[in-house]
Amino acid sequence: MKIVMLGAPGAGKGTQAKKIAESFGVPHISTGDIFRANIKNNTELGKKAKVYMDKGELVPDELVVDLIMDRFSEPDCSNGYVLDGYPRTIPQAEALDSALKANNDSLDFAVNVDVPDEEIISRMSGRRACLKCGATYHTSFNPPKEEGVCDKCGEALVQREDDKEETVKNRLGVYHEQTEPLEKYYAEAGLLHNVDGTKNMDEVFDSIKIIIG
Ligand code: ADP
Ligand code: AMP
Repeated sequence: MKIVMLGAPGAGKGTQAKKIAESFGVPHISTGDIFRANIKNNTELGKKAKVYMDKGELVPDELVVDLIMDRFSEPDCSNGYVLDGYPRTIPQAEALDSALKANNDSLDFAVNVDVPDEEIISRMSGRRACLKCGATYHTSFNPPKEEGVCDKCGEALVQREDDKEETVKNRLGVYHEQTEPLEKYYAEAGLLHNVDGTKNMDEVFDSIKIIIG
């Protein structure tokens, strides 16, 4: 099963992608997580990506496309994957289509998690992330058992640098301009499914399960 998650930053793509991955036995691939791991390890790729991420801009397509193609070659992708944060531009979607086509393959679903901008701002201000294992929490909607500590690995939780309000506003602008056109792209391919992302996390997942089976 090959799924693309669409939606604004903070709409809940990662939250739902993790649930899909767990239930359907496919890897959750988040380009944002891969970049953050590279930043943490101070790699060349991390250093390049950080310049864009800190400003709330997109990392250039050529860096992202190479990265995702490498990831697809890993053995855990043989049964599919759920993509979270990729593609974010039309050229990225086209690169994905070409790579799949070259293997006589195709995507199964594009799931768009729909949340209005006003709600995004409050979600992002409460998001807390574990930079060690990638788990995500929310101070009100999904708090960890112990404040500031990851339930899964015990690491201290942080507020992402790019979740500060000014950067979030910039990221929303970038989303509307460069990523939202993907809704039309996937609708024309007959793959787009919209879910109401303002419901609680379990209700959103129930709607997704109805779509993907
Ligand atoms: P994205 O991957 O789209 O950027 P996340 O999955 O990280 O978004 O979610 C953003 C924030 O909103 C997180 O703090 C998460 O815990 C919270 N969240 C996710 N889904 C919901 C929901 N349905 N209702 C309330 N909060 C949510
Ligand atoms: P995310 O964790 O998905 O919110 O991504 C965090 C940041 O990483 C984004 O604001 C971008 O700067 C960068 N990023 C992640 N995925 C992509 C992508 N597919 N294309 C360009 N930039 C990306």
